Amino acid sequence: MDDRHLDRRSLMKFGAAAAGSIALVSCAKENPNREARDGKDEGPYDVVVVGAGYAGVTAARELAAQGWRVVVLEARPRIGGRTFTSKFLGRQIELGGSSVHWLQPHVFAEMQRYGFGFQEVPLRNLDKAYVMTADGKVHDVPPARFDAGYDDAFKKFCEGARTLFPQPFSPFANPEVAKLDEISAAARMAKLDLDPIQRASLNAELVLYAGSPTNTFSAMSFVKLAALAAWDPYTFTDSEKHWHIANGGTAALAKAILDDSKADVRLGTVVKQVETTATGVTLRTADGQMVEAKAVLFTLPTQVYPDIEFKPGLSAEKRAFIKNGDICDGATMYMRIKQNIGNTFAFCDDPNPLNAIQTEESDDTVGTILKATLGRQSLLDINDQDAVNAELRKIHPTAEITDIAPYNWVKDPFSKQAWPAYRAGWFKKYKDMAKPEGRMFFAGSGTADGWHAYIDGAVESGIRACREVTQLLEKGNQQ
Ligand SMILES: Cc1cc2nc3c(=O)[nH]c(=O)nc-3n(C[C@H](O)[C@H](O)[C@H](O)COP(=O)(O)OP(=O)(O)OC[C@H]3O[C@@H](n4cnc5c(N)ncnc54)[C@H](O)[C@@H]3O)c2cc1C
Repeated sequence: MDDRHLDRRSLMKFGAAAAGSIALVSCAKENPNREARDGKDEGPYDVVVVGAGYAGVTAARELAAQGWRVVVLEARPRIGGRTFTSKFLGRQIELGGSSVHWLQPHVFAEMQRYGFGFQEVPLRNLDKAYVMTADGKVHDVPPARFDAGYDDAFKKFCEGARTLFPQPFSPFANPEVAKLDEISAAARMAKLDLDPIQRASLNAELVLYAGSPTNTFSAMSFVKLAALAAWDPYTFTDSEKHWHIANGGTAALAKAILDDSKADVRLGTVVKQVETTATGVTLRTADGQMVEAKAVLFTLPTQVYPDIEFKPGLSAEKRAFIKNGDICDGATMYMRIKQNIGNTFAFCDDPNPLNAIQTEESDDTVGTILKATLGRQSLLDINDQDAVNAELRKIHPTAEITDIAPYNWVKDPFSKQAWPAYRAGWFKKYKDMAKPEGRMFFAGSGTADGWHAYIDGAVESGIRACREVTQLLEKGNQQ
């Protein structure tokens, strides 16, 4: 496997995990089943799709199904983007996007289409629940009280969600939402009547979505996600922490989508420049390829756009959003500890770095496999097993970590951030990143109307972008 673009330190730490991942290693795959709309199989492509994450693979399939000649250029040696199915001690793990739900219509439809079921992660019927307050004090909270306290805090934070987001996929249908977008999650929470345990639990959750301190995070962007989960804390938690994709995980589903497309695919192909003229686009790649097409669809994480030279440059609105709007310092990691600590869940409030720690598996043979999610990975070196163990011991004093599988998406040059997270005042501008500019089109989960921090949002955006590209190309064909 070509690991040029992966975080080398992470790979050293979980070499077996990375090696076990599903990767398509061929550099260029010319699709033998390609069917061109005009019957011709020569000349420039109709569309170049940049990026083979969920937005890219979905768009490629949809565009090729319309009969357009499509090529996908993907920087990494694998598809899937910010999803990454891997192996850890012989088990399938998800180092990026993992949880999916039937309330997420786009990804659920893809799972149904290709025959993927759900794999349950232990979340309910906890043996133990812990909350670490900001001062580092750990509270052993009876699970029923933990659940009730969190539900109450969540409901208070999301009060009015039904009125604010009557149609969550049209997030600004109620003009009040735009007015409230300047309010940070910390400011909204400060007004709530919560006990210290509830405050710490809720803030730990919000830090996870923020990927930054909560005083910079758009409260409304989180309330929209609650509205998408039927305005309900139980279903919200169910949608974010309870179900993974069975039978090969996110990698297998992404592969099923791309295999179903009639697109050509070039892996390990880093786009460096795009030049647009009145009639087409020309892309240049790091390894000297020149690719011409009638249109290009970018599906990149917000933070990597500055690494591409746009001729002419991106709009001022996009540049402002890239600089200020969507920045996320998050990470996920797995760890194995020797002891069997049972089915546990812990919320650790900022600035404690391991904000959510969840048992994925536990018995007397394996000990315990834990998954930790961090809102601010820069507070802890997730590759440093001793440092992670010291943090974990604050909650589980006897825990001995034997193995870890971290992945640093912020240091990865092809993401430079974890999940999308809108800053206060910038949620209302997310559509600036989706606006077409001439022959350039834009998708990616951060541009989605619905589940913007999720795989579902990526799929939604790929479908929307296909519609936009098709309109342009059909206009061209009529001339
Ligand atoms: C740690 C973590 C946990 C998450 N947890 C969940 C979860 O539980 N559930 C959930 O639904 N979502 C979760 N998400 C979010 C979800 O994974 C993303 O929102 C989604 O996968 C993004 O898909 P995308 O196609 O928009 O972007 P990406 O997946 O980032 O795809 C963009 C692609 O562009 C490529 N690229 C970048 N630069 C270039 C270039 N110059 N040239 C060519 N290609 C380039 C990248 O390699 C990448 O493949 C999580 C994300 C992370 C990181």
